[in-house]
Amino acid sequence: MMIQNKTIAIIGGGPGGLSLARLLQMAGAEVTVYERDQNSDVRIQGATLDLHEDSGLKTIRKAGLMEAFLAHFRPGADKMRVVDRAAHIHFDDHRTKPAEDFGDADFRPEIDRGPLRKILLAALQPGTVVWDRQFISMTQTDQVWTIQFQNGETATADLVIGADGARSRIRPYLTDIKPFYSGITMVEGTIYDAAINSPRIYELLKGGKIFALGDSKTLIVSSKEAGAMSFYTGCKTAESWVVDSGIDFKDNTQLLHWFQQEFSGWDPIWQELFAHEKTSFIPRPQYCMPLTQTWTAQANLSLIGDAAHLMPPFAGEGVNMAMLDALELSECLRGNQFSDLQSAIAHYELKMRERAAATAKMTLEQTESLHSEKALDNMLRMFSEEPS
Ligand SMILES: Cc1cc2nc3c(=O)[nH]c(=O)nc-3n(C[C@H](O)[C@H](O)[C@H](O)COP(=O)(O)OP(=O)(O)OC[C@H]3O[C@@H](n4cnc5c(N)ncnc54)[C@H](O)[C@@H]3O)c2cc1C
Repeated sequence: MMIQNKTIAIIGGGPGGLSLARLLQMAGAEVTVYERDQNSDVRIQGATLDLHEDSGLKTIRKAGLMEAFLAHFRPGADKMRVVDRAAHIHFDDHRTKPAEDFGDADFRPEIDRGPLRKILLAALQPGTVVWDRQFISMTQTDQVWTIQFQNGETATADLVIGADGARSRIRPYLTDIKPFYSGITMVEGTIYDAAINSPRIYELLKGGKIFALGDSKTLIVSSKEAGAMSFYTGCKTAESWVVDSGIDFKDNTQLLHWFQQEFSGWDPIWQELFAHEKTSFIPRPQYCMPLTQTWTAQANLSLIGDAAHLMPPFAGEGVNMAMLDALELSECLRGNQFSDLQSAIAHYELKMRERAAATAKMTLEQTESLHSEKALDNMLRMFSEEPS
């Protein structure tokens, strides 16, 4: 194995980085994950994730974690309702969709980010993840990287993998290609004790997902573990809207006021999502890596996940791509089919960029479709064309 006697540093303990660590450890490699979060108990915000049979779930299976996944995914959370701005239901999985059907390519079980991280962490050897290590910079001497962290600590590694997400600090060591703005900015929020704090939307959600479409805008709501709900709006805005709008995103009164104006023709039921004083909001302009991006492979550095191929979330592919990257990179590194590390990495990166470009193209089309005047018709047509 080419990576025998090599120390591998993975920067970032998200789904991509932890999957890679697990798969490399299964092959006997020496791996450390450096993660900026303070510890494993940090409450992870954000929408739930649906894993796909040929990517996310495939990686879970190869990592020997299907049993743990079955114990932690949320049955029924994948069931979707497509509604209009008046909250009238036009499509309802709850009426038609069978219960979980693992092995069926159309079954996309949902898991929260926290439990997914826990499953992956529990599968790693003790001490694999070093917390409170925010990557700042690195230098190379005789093919060995010296890594500098925010807290003054350093580490060395023969091979560095950037799994540090959308704003990767590792990526500039490989390429200066930057993502472009997709035209959509999301505002994301999470409501805890949703049955009490947003009862009407909670009832409409029915433990699944809501896609509300209208006026070229989206409002997507997902149920989460422990009675919580996450949601995000999607609106066409200028790239600089977050600053130009003048909104203080920590001031919930301002957010409610913005929502009432921006979604003025929508049923007041939706305002429940913005009315709770404890909800914290995060504005998220959505970026995408150029579909034609390329770079020269290095012998001791590579990227996986959002760091390699950021894309908007409107096709639910990001985490699946990150986990499949982990699987494919691990297979290239552990096999004997390549003469050296640079060839193995080059092979992985070529396939990864091709796959990500095709997925990002589909995602951009979906993003446009969901934010068009005909969004509801487009989505209903898509479901009616799906094989049953
Ligand atoms: C609102 C929203 C909804 C989404 N919904 C879906 C969905 O339904 N389905 C889907 O497939 N995808 C979805 N995505 C996309 C998905 O979250 C990402 O594609 C996925 O998390 C990428 O995984 P990753 O491991 O590459 O990066 P991340 O999950 O971003 O993990 C990166 C890790 O690196 C750490 N890190 C960052 N910088 C540093 C540093 N300098 N030093 C050390 N550590 C660092 C971070 O703390 C984090 O733990 C959504 C995204 C958003 C914003």
